[in-house]
Amino acid sequence: MTHLEGRVAIVTGGAKGIGEVITTALAKEGVKVVINYNSSKDAAEALVNKLAAEGCEVYACQADVSKLEEAKGLVEEAVQRFGKVDILVNNAGITRDRTFKKLSREDWDRVIDVNLGSVYNTTNAALPYITESEEGRIINISSIIGQAGGFGQTNYSAAKAGMIGFTKSLALELARTNVTVNAICPGFIGTDMVAEMPEAVLEKIVAKVPKQRLGTPEEIAKGVLYLCRDGAYITGQQLNINGGLYM
Ligand code: NAP
Repeated sequence: MTHLEGRVAIVTGGAKGIGEVITTALAKEGVKVVINYNSSKDAAEALVNKLAAEGCEVYACQADVSKLEEAKGLVEEAVQRFGKVDILVNNAGITRDRTFKKLSREDWDRVIDVNLGSVYNTTNAALPYITESEEGRIINISSIIGQAGGFGQTNYSAAKAGMIGFTKSLALELARTNVTVNAICPGFIGTDMVAEMPEAVLEKIVAKVPKQRLGTPEEIAKGVLYLCRDGAYITGQQLNINGGLYM
């Protein structure tokens, strides 16, 4: 088991929802966390203040990670601030759900750029630093929708499936280094993203979940901690945290 104290992590979209809870879980283990946000400045500052008051070392950094130059700026700021990068959690994501007939090219592009293009951008920028780590970790927050598909979600499903393919290929390329690359595939988790869904649709989904409830962001964060602490021999995998919905 690896002690995480003193390691440095970047969590994209780390101020809200699942990202906020991953940030908090890592910070409480003594990881120095760079909390990336795009538009949620107030939430990022509030989280920094809350965690700093508890003795954690955290730092907020604005960047739209769908843009290569901004992702590079994020990584450079992390290195300037904390001297290295050991852990990259690619968590930033959006949905723009439409049935394919109504899906504009713009909504296709934006969802691919934010969910998948960002993974290229941050990994490209951070890899030279992560490969210098004793225990490097790249963790991509994909989705059950990338495995099973989702009605009205061709764009999101393609992006999240792309993250899984990326994860396996990069894991192979890095297998002889100290860096592992894995995906976490959450099922339906109670955050703003799921709150956007019509209540009737959500009720039907929950009824199909073998565990009969939504997952919590804390249950996803525990997966991240597990891969960071105990995951030296786990690479190229999909960790499904979905209440049994996809087996
Ligand atoms: P959320 O509450 O809507 O949070 C999305 C996060 O992504 C926010 O922190 C947001 O930051 C960030 N983000 C969006 N566009 C960005 C950009 N261009 N650059 C940087 N950050 C950006 O959603 P969530 O449920 O926590 O989702 C987190 C991840 O889990 C996503 O990748 C999502 O696809 C995945 N996931 C969620 C569920 C679920 O049921 N909730 C299930 C499977 C997978 P700002 O607010 O600052 O823009």
